[in-house]
Amino acid sequence: MSQLPVADTRVVRLYATGLIRQHRAPLTRMLSLYALAAMMALVPAWIIGRITNLATDHRLTSRTITYYVVGLLASSLAFAGLSFLARRRSYVLGETVFAQLREEFLESVLALPLVVVERAGTGDLLSRTTNDMEALSRTVRFAMPEWLVAVVQALVTLVAMVLVSPLASVASIVSLPILYFSTRYYLHYATPGYRRERMSYASMSGSVSETAEGARTVDAHRLGPRQAARIEGNIRESFYSEMYTLLMRLVWFPTIEIAFALAVATTLAWSGWLALHHSITIGAATTVTLYVVQINDPVDRIVSWLDELQIGQTSLARLVGVSVVRDDRPIEGREPSNETITMHDVRYAYREGHDVLNGVSLTIRPGERLAIVGPSGAGKSTIGRLLAGIDAPRSGTVTVGDVDLATMPLTILRRHVALVTQEHHIFLGTVRENLALAKPAASDDEIERALAAVDALEWVRALPDGLATELGTTGYPVTSAQAQQLALARLVLSDPHTLVLDEATALLDPRAARHLERSLSAVLEGRTVIAIAHRLHTAHDADRVCVVVDGLVAEIGTHDELVALDGEYASLWRSWRNEVPEPS
Ligand code: ADP
Repeated sequence: MSQLPVADTRVVRLYATGLIRQHRAPLTRMLSLYALAAMMALVPAWIIGRITNLATDHRLTSRTITYYVVGLLASSLAFAGLSFLARRRSYVLGETVFAQLREEFLESVLALPLVVVERAGTGDLLSRTTNDMEALSRTVRFAMPEWLVAVVQALVTLVAMVLVSPLASVASIVSLPILYFSTRYYLHYATPGYRRERMSYASMSGSVSETAEGARTVDAHRLGPRQAARIEGNIRESFYSEMYTLLMRLVWFPTIEIAFALAVATTLAWSGWLALHHSITIGAATTVTLYVVQINDPVDRIVSWLDELQIGQTSLARLVGVSVVRDDRPIEGREPSNETITMHDVRYAYREGHDVLNGVSLTIRPGERLAIVGPSGAGKSTIGRLLAGIDAPRSGTVTVGDVDLATMPLTILRRHVALVTQEHHIFLGTVRENLALAKPAASDDEIERALAAVDALEWVRALPDGLATELGTTGYPVTSAQAQQLALARLVLSDPHTLVLDEATALLDPRAARHLERSLSAVLEGRTVIAIAHRLHTAHDADRVCVVVDGLVAEIGTHDELVALDGEYASLWRSWRNEVPEPS
């Protein structure tokens, strides 16, 4: 299974700078407020330095002390007020940006070509929408604002230190190489570690959801131990990847602590020495040392949030990766000149080197009812998918009129061909909403006609609230046969010129299915209908029957012709007639 792509660092960086650019004004305002708050935080250490100098010069009076105490109080109050305002702004900004990210991600997920989702499996996508979105939410809403605050505080403190005494500040530089190299080392080795960690979560949720969804199959084929072994493997992989990143942190954190302690110690010794030799005042030495102590806190936060930012970056790369998948379909295109559908020498493979269609050629006239029959695994559904333009052939062409389906914009394609399979989904919402998906402007009258066409009007009317009855997981339960009827009603509403029905009535009992097909065909008069059928009465009722065997068209013609031919179809028909009594 091929995973969805992950955006590379360059793309992620471009995306992030784009975001910053869009929110530049509120970001600048927020950072300015934080800078002011950080300046207020510098006042106490400066005052302590002043008092120290006055005390050593024996010039300290109770009056100056009062002034300084008032100054201290005022700066603390200003600090609290400014911090509050700045923090509020940063959280508002974080929420705004996160909401935007979420919407953009949703858009790119919805724009994913169906084939890509099918190939990647839903686990990966699920893990991106849950784990990665959550990780990114922490980053954007907390880590990023906190980190920016810390950066501003550290810079402001650094500037103040240099202003008080450039000479004394020099000593704190000793810790910089330690901080720089250890952090670089950490980021270099931890980033792939975090990426691996995320991927392992994706595989794990994939295996678990697959096992839960396919629980019956797993039971029926006694795949329990195999699935358990696979999940155990996933857990082991997660365990080792987490151990790895944990080990990285375990080495990195203490190194940072040592760097801080070293900075304070050397600054104290060096500025003390300078003060003893009267190069600077004792007050300046005190203030600079206090600033070094004070700067440790924001620097510590800068480096420890890097960790979370890393995780955020990895998640962002996985989320942006989804938008990197581009549908090769153009947005614009022209309408086909007519509705004839042609497959020419089509070959198709799910896995390279294993063609399941070996050169299928087929022309379907507008308004024709074609039934496709054949043994299971012969390639009927694959033909259906290609006819509906879900996937493109490996070689050969599928065209409607004179336009290649593979290059037709989706909006045009869906007006011409639509596919209904046994898989169908009831969305959360009323019956009306479920059907209006196909045609948002549909009136109740149109909706009821569509329901009547699929024999569903009667039971829908009998629902507690009729068309307004809530359906879906938390709503009124409908049977799968009813769900199938709703899917077909949706199709009637969207009214494409060509319909591909892949066992679309398989969940109904034979009698109901045949009745439904007949009412459908009354509504679909003039439409092209391609029905992939396992019940041969569908073939019997069709204009032509196409028999597919081993990825090739083995026979094609009317029911009577093929019965007279006495080949594959004739024998299928005979055995089916023997099994199933003639439906009325
Ligand atoms: P039919 O509809 O006639 O039963 P299909 O078109 O579903 O046949 O399948 C044709 C062949 O392609 C089968 O051998 C099947 O195993 C294979 N196949 C179908 N779907 C996939 C898939 N998603 N991945 C790999 N092989 C597939």
